[in-house]
Order: sequence, then structure tokens, then C-alpha cells
Amino acid sequence: MKCRRCGHKASINMRQHKLALCKDHYLEWILSQTERIIGKYKMFTHQDQIVVAVSGGKDSLALWDVLSRLDYNVEGLYIGLGINGGISYSTKSRSYCEEFANLQKSKLNIVEINKELDNTIPELSKQSSRGRGKPCSVCGLTKRHIMNRFAIDKGYDVLVTGHNLDDEVATLFNNTLNWSTGYLQRQSPVLESTHPGLIRKAKPFCRFYERETAAYALLRGIQYIYDECPYAVGAKSIYNKALLNRLEVDRPGAKLSFYLAFLKAKEEGFFTQKGESNINLLNTCPSCGGPTTVIGECAFCRMVTKVNQGNK
Ligand code: SF4
Ligand code: ZN
Repeated sequence: MKCRRCGHKASINMRQHKLALCKDHYLEWILSQTERIIGKYKMFTHQDQIVVAVSGGKDSLALWDVLSRLDYNVEGLYIGLGINGGISYSTKSRSYCEEFANLQKSKLNIVEINKELDNTIPELSKQSSRGRGKPCSVCGLTKRHIMNRFAIDKGYDVLVTGHNLDDEVATLFNNTLNWSTGYLQRQSPVLESTHPGLIRKAKPFCRFYERETAAYALLRGIQYIYDECPYAVGAKSIYNKALLNRLEVDRPGAKLSFYLAFLKAKEEGFFTQKGESNINLLNTCPSCGGPTTVIGECAFCRMVTKVNQGNK
């Protein structure tokens, strides 16, 4: 297979785009496509201060690399979860982020949950009523809260995450199976800030397949953590991804068209509620000042309050 641009040996063949490219042209293609997606969804500009949430995995480190190469003002944020079961997952993932930041000479901000909350995620989960044994619910809630708080307190303009198309489609598939209209309304390449305590969020890799971000990381020589979090075993998202991969084998481009058709339907108002949309009606948490859909403490503060009461 030859590169469509120069005729040299292709490094990647993207059946869904009917496009094969050599290493240099592929790396160039990822940069230009990312720039195009950032512009198309009006994610941010070169004047904005951007913070990218990094986990040590391929997507977030590749995104940090791409944004730096496109000359955006971007820093990293790593959240230490204290997940060290068996493979020392958190220790390893932090060291990949630190290595990457050192090589790039970019700033990596680190927040260790253990220091912030006197508890690791697995400990917090054991003491909380959320999640029924698995720490993922507590983990997701805590990560979202810490990322948002950090970005607001430090005055960044936007928080970006490395979600790729496979992540987005797995979420979309799950939300569609359940017709979770609230989640479907909120799923978007950009989430505007609708509250002074809520950071604007963007997902510049939302239209890249996972194998495309993996190929980018590999061809750029980015060292990243291969292991999944030990708690990811048996996750619904992994099951959904496997199902969708089977569909993609038979129908190349199926995931991309499912996602793009969803975005188009949203644009046409398919998921807008009658009358005023309720996503703008956010209250302020009296404890942390963050946004909340209920009156009183936000879900994160309620969880922390309960854990602290239980410990008294
Ligand atoms: Fe957190 Fe691990 Fe669950 Fe992901 S799989 S939400 S990192 S505990
Ligand atoms: Zn709160």
C-alpha cells in the first residue's frame, strides 16, 4: 500500500477515510485534522490558556503533544488516584506523564487525591455508599470535581480531554440503548460553561478512531502506559467497544457516521427539550462554590460529607 500524498510505503491505511499515508504525511494529517476539528467546533483559540487532563495513556499524551506542536498554550494536569492494586497503576501512570512533560519541557500540574482528601480512590469508595464495590462511580465523580475545581481556581479558559471517537461512540451507544436523554443532550465535542464555577470543556480528538491516536503515539515515539486501570476489567464501556468494533469490521466508517449523524441530529434540535433547556439551570454548591443540578451541596460534597460523618 502506498501513501496517497507521496507514493512512499504507507504506514497506516484508514479504510473509513479510504486514505493510506506514510509516517510523515500521517503525522501531518493528524495535526491538520485536529486544527480543523478545533476550528469547526470553536473549541479554543491560540489566545486561550488550556489545561489537558493526562492519565499517562496514549490519547491524553498524544493530545498534549499535538496541541504543543500546534503552538497552543497548554499545560498538563495529572490526578493521582492512589490506585496501586497489583500493577501500581497510579505510580506508573504518573511517571509516564512526568517523563513526557520533562521531554517536552512543558508544565505538568499534579493533584494527589490522597493529599487533597486524606483518602485514595479505593479507600474513599469503600467508605462511600456509591458504586456497590467498584470504585468507578466515586472515581469519576471525584476526577470531574477536581479537574473542574483546578481549572477554575487557576484561571484556565478551557479543560481538554483525550476522548477519542471509540470512547464517544461507546458512550453514545450506551446512552441510546437507555434513551438517557439528559446525557444525550450533554454529549458534545464542546461543553460550554453555564455557571461561573464550571470550566468550558473540549474534546479535540473526538473524531479520531482509537487506532489513529495509537498510531500517532507510536509514530511519534511517545511512551505511555499500556495497562488499563485494574478496575476497568468487566466495564460496560469495554463490552460496548468490542461490539462496536465488530460492526466496524463489517462496515468501515460505521462508528464515525453514527457519531456524526448524532451531532447533526442534535444541531437540528432533536435532543432539545420543549421550552427552556434545563442544562442551563445550575445552582451553586454552598460548600465548594461549584455547579450543581440540585439545591444544596453538589454530589461530590455530599459524598465527602457522608464519608466524614461515617468516620466520626
Ligand atoms: Fe477510575 Fe479505574 Fe474506574 Fe477508570 S476504571 S473510573 S480509572 S477506578
Ligand atoms: Zn460542592
